[in-house]
Amino acid sequence: MGAKATRATVGGMRLRTRLMQVLGCVAIASAALQADRLQQPQRPTAIAAHVGTSTAPANAPATRAALDLLAPGLSTVVVIVRRNDTLDRIFRQLELNLTDLANLRAVAGTRALLDRLMPGETLRLQHRDGELVGLQRNISLTEQLNVTRSGEDFHADVVARPLELRAQLEHGVIDSSLFDAGSSAGLQDQTVMQLAKIFGWDIDFALDLRSGDEFTVSYQRIFQDGKYLQDGDILAASFVNNGREVRAVRYVAPDGSAGYYSPDGHSMQKAFLRAPLEFRRVSSRFSTARFHPILNRIRAHQGVDYAASTGTPVYASGDGRVKFRGVRGGYGNLLEIDHGAGIVTVYGHLSRFAAAARPGARVRQGQTVAYVGMTGLATGPHLHYEYRLNGRYLDPQRVKLPDATPVASALLADFRLQSAARLAALSPPAAPPLAARPAAPPGALPAAR
Ligand SMILES: [Zn+2]
Repeated sequence: MGAKATRATVGGMRLRTRLMQVLGCVAIASAALQADRLQQPQRPTAIAAHVGTSTAPANAPATRAALDLLAPGLSTVVVIVRRNDTLDRIFRQLELNLTDLANLRAVAGTRALLDRLMPGETLRLQHRDGELVGLQRNISLTEQLNVTRSGEDFHADVVARPLELRAQLEHGVIDSSLFDAGSSAGLQDQTVMQLAKIFGWDIDFALDLRSGDEFTVSYQRIFQDGKYLQDGDILAASFVNNGREVRAVRYVAPDGSAGYYSPDGHSMQKAFLRAPLEFRRVSSRFSTARFHPILNRIRAHQGVDYAASTGTPVYASGDGRVKFRGVRGGYGNLLEIDHGAGIVTVYGHLSRFAAAARPGARVRQGQTVAYVGMTGLATGPHLHYEYRLNGRYLDPQRVKLPDATPVASALLADFRLQSAARLAALSPPAAPPLAARPAAPPGALPAAR
C-alpha cells in the first residue's frame, strides 16, 4: 500500500476533527457504548442529590392500571430526578411517609444504592395514601433495585436487566458524504464515526472518498426488555474505495483487549501517527542533506515543519518513553521519544511540555506530550518534527510506518475462529446475478418457450 498509506494516514485526534468536517457532524457520540463494557456494569458514582419537582404520573398506564386493579388505592409515581434532589426531598414533596424512608434505608445494603441520585434518572415509586409500597431504581444499565413492602418491613432485590445484542448488516453507497450514506443505510452517527475510525488509517475520508464508494457493515444493536437502546460495536466491515476493497474484523483477545484487524490478523492501525498534531499547513518539507557549493555549507531540513497556533497540543506519535525534555540550541524546547526498535521521534520549538511527559515516562500514541510554540530558531509558531531510525533521519511524511501490533501468533487460531463467521457475515450467500452465471452448455436451451 506504499504511497496510499503515506498519504492517507492521519493522527487519531486529527482524524476525529476532520471527520467531523467531512461528515458534517457536530456531535460525536462520546458516550459510544461498548458492548464489551456493558457486561461489567458499574455503579453510578459521585452524584449530586436533587429535588423531585418534576414528578409525573406513571408513564406506564398499563402497569398502573394492573396494579390498581390488584390493589385499590395504589398510586404509581414516576420521578425524574433533578439536580440537588435527595430521596428525602422527593419523599417530602410527594408527601410520603418519612418513617418508611428511614425503614427502607435501614435495610441492609440499600442505603448505598439509594443515597446518591443522578440528575435525569428515573425513579418509580408505588404508594397507598403516602405509605410506600414499592420502589424501583435502575442502578446500572443492567441492574435494577427493586424494593417491595410486606407488612412494616421492606425487602430489596437487585434484579438483572440483561442486554440483548442483535447482529445487523447494512450496506451503503457514497453519494455526497459518508455521513449521508450511513444515515440512508440506517446507521446511527456513532456507528458511522466508528466505521470511519476503523478505516481512517487506510482511507483519507477528506481526500480519497469517491462517489460510488461503498461499504458493508455488520454491527450489533443493543436491546433491553425488547426495546432498542443503541448501536453497539462494529463486528466486521468492508469498504470499497475507488475500486479497492479493505476489510476489517473486530477481535477480542482472551485478556479482554479489543481491536480491529485485517482478515490476516494485521492491525488496522499504524504504530505511529503520520502527523503528531492538528496543523494548518506544512510550512517546510523534509530535504536530504546536501553540500551547497556556493554557500559552502550543508543545507538540509531533517524534519517537517507543521504550522499551527501556539498552544496547539502535540501528541506522542507512537507508544514509547520520553528520552529527553529540555532546551537544545536552535530546537528551543525539545522533546524526544524513544519508541524502541531504533525509532526516535523529535518535537521542536515547543512552547511548553505536558506535565505527564517527564523524562523516562511512558507515553501512549495520541497522548498530549507538549504544545506548539516558537522557541529556538523559529520565525513563527510551528512544530519541527523528526522521525529517526537507527540514527538516520527519514521523511516523516513518506516513511513507511510500521503497523501496530498484529494478533500474536499464539492467538492466531483463536482469531481465525472468531473472525471467520464475522467476515462471512459481510457477504451472505446470494444468487449470483444472471450475467455472472456460467453459460448454459450448448444444446441445453429448451426446445420451445
Ligand atoms: Zn524544521
